[in-house]
Amino acid sequence: MLSMIVDCHAHLAHPDFAADLDAVVGRMRAAGAVAVNTGSNLEANKKALAITSRFPDVLKTAIGLSPHDANREPLDGNLRFIRAHADEICAIGEIGFDFHYFKKEEERERQRVAFSAQLDLAESLDLPVVVHSREAEGEAIALLAKRKGVRILHCFLMPALLDAALKAGCLVSLPTLKSKSRVTLIERAQEGRVLCETDSPYLWRGGRNEPANVAEVYAEMARLRGARFAEGASRRALEIFGW
Ligand SMILES: [Zn+2]
Repeated sequence: MLSMIVDCHAHLAHPDFAADLDAVVGRMRAAGAVAVNTGSNLEANKKALAITSRFPDVLKTAIGLSPHDANREPLDGNLRFIRAHADEICAIGEIGFDFHYFKKEEERERQRVAFSAQLDLAESLDLPVVVHSREAEGEAIALLAKRKGVRILHCFLMPALLDAALKAGCLVSLPTLKSKSRVTLIERAQEGRVLCETDSPYLWRGGRNEPANVAEVYAEMARLRGARFAEGASRRALEIFGW
């Protein structure tokens, strides 16, 4: 087993973890995992920072205004909050596009404005970005191709877009969803360009997901590409997020 594994994307501020966070973190430690505790709006970002400060040995924080919340909260206050906490975070996220839930042009436009402003901020602070894109992958990748710095496409399961994503300079983060797509991506991914995540509490076979489960993605990597490849994915994540 790997010495230390990284869950690049988890939402421990989610209400699903309110009752037993200590036990969840205990299982993470037992699995040798650390996690990027990720926010999505002002309240979740504040809560994520507070949770990380309770478990600084195994958590780091990413904060950002998500595409879902870009239509509910003012951008200015969120940008101010990110700037004020820049020293306490390892990335800006999750940010991006969700055209599945938001069909109106004015809603999508608000997402574009929020996404671009946060990409600017990430570049000026020299921080990685963690990007959500749903039914907008082409537009997201085209936009990210024009940017610099570490750009991670989270919950990536689209083999048809792998080459475009890599060519755009992005890394892809594979979730805890067993699927043919994930197998294909692991087989084709370049070393150093692929990461692992849980997106806890989501994406776990009908139940609640948690960071310890990220071991499953690394195990599949090791099975398909060998232990050194899986170790490389974890090492790359540790380096990107500054562990
Ligand atoms: Zn997420």
